Amino acid sequence: MSDIMDLCEQSPAYVRAIAPYQPGKPITELARELGLDERSIVKLASNENPRGISPKALAAVKAALPELARYPDGFELTRALSQRLGVTMQQIVLGNGSNDVLEHAGMAFLAPGCSAVYSQHAFAVYPLATQARGAQSIVVPAKNYGHDLEAMLAAVRSDTHVVFIANPNNPTGTMLTAAELESFLTRMPKNVVVVVDEAYNEYLAPELRCPSIAWVGRFPNLIVTRTFSKIYGLAGLRVGYAVCRPELADLLNRVRQPFNVNNLAIVAAVAALSDDDFLRQSYELNVAGMAQLLAGCKRLGVAWIPSYGNFLTVEIPRSGGNSQAAAVFQKLLRLGVIVRPLAGYDMPDHLRVTIGLAEENARFLDALETVLKG
Ligand SMILES: *Cc1c(COP(=O)(O)O)cnc(C)c1O
Repeated sequence: MSDIMDLCEQSPAYVRAIAPYQPGKPITELARELGLDERSIVKLASNENPRGISPKALAAVKAALPELARYPDGFELTRALSQRLGVTMQQIVLGNGSNDVLEHAGMAFLAPGCSAVYSQHAFAVYPLATQARGAQSIVVPAKNYGHDLEAMLAAVRSDTHVVFIANPNNPTGTMLTAAELESFLTRMPKNVVVVVDEAYNEYLAPELRCPSIAWVGRFPNLIVTRTFSKIYGLAGLRVGYAVCRPELADLLNRVRQPFNVNNLAIVAAVAALSDDDFLRQSYELNVAGMAQLLAGCKRLGVAWIPSYGNFLTVEIPRSGGNSQAAAVFQKLLRLGVIVRPLAGYDMPDHLRVTIGLAEENARFLDALETVLKG
């Protein structure tokens, strides 16, 4: 026993101090725990596309199955992305999910003695990517649950190498305007990498989207990350990417595992990228589902944070000064509805609910009503 403890202490203190990522509860786990039928469970906990994988992507995966003995080749996906985005192939770095490229940014630019700046209530992978390198986290207090860009600029130190920004942000759903972000990028010191994480970009109304890819030409320190896990419906396959200047991409590629994106993920992403019908239908479903959830919350007297993503973060009223969100989360589970508690994001009174199919949203609202009135 003490041998194993001694062994663990060989791991750097900054690794041992990492708080593990808490994923949304899987349907299979809840079914096992409560003896429920998996089909009766509604999971609105991980911002997945409730419509599932696009039929074109599924067909591409099936067609690629016989080729699994071969190592993957990211060329076709990189080319498809470069054509769609209007950048060169040398500006794209593929990731095993966009988490992977966020880690690459940390690996390429952070080390003990450096710091990274990000916001309170920001995505959980930023602290992970920072701490895993032994770098220091500078967490800037949020403003109205969103990024306080002025305070983030002021927080940048001479040892700061990376700033992480999610736009829209998860788990709050807040959005920065293009003018705000552009002004921030203009004023950021040129020797600080700014990672703009656009996992929910495709859920923004087109007129609200930032010209972030075009900005890569203007701001050499900008890395834009995107994912196929959300609107593209491929969370289980793990594929995302970064767009940046070729010199930065070259650094990210040095720390990237050579075959980090698998064959099935590559073919599915190529197919999903051009499945315009699936994208449009997913976007429209989200708009309708958001309206449904907002109307339901209004009816129940539940407050929310205005959201620009495929999820809504609601505030569970306190009782006698005590937070009720954890208890409400547990009661929703017993009714077969999985949402996301946010205590780990410094939001102990909030729950995040992913926008699902109309009937799933209705199940959530019914269950929430039952729990709040019970
Ligand atoms: C979901 C999400 C991601 C994407 O994660 P993947 O690794 O691509 O599945 C990245 N950033 C934010 C803010 C997210 O919410």
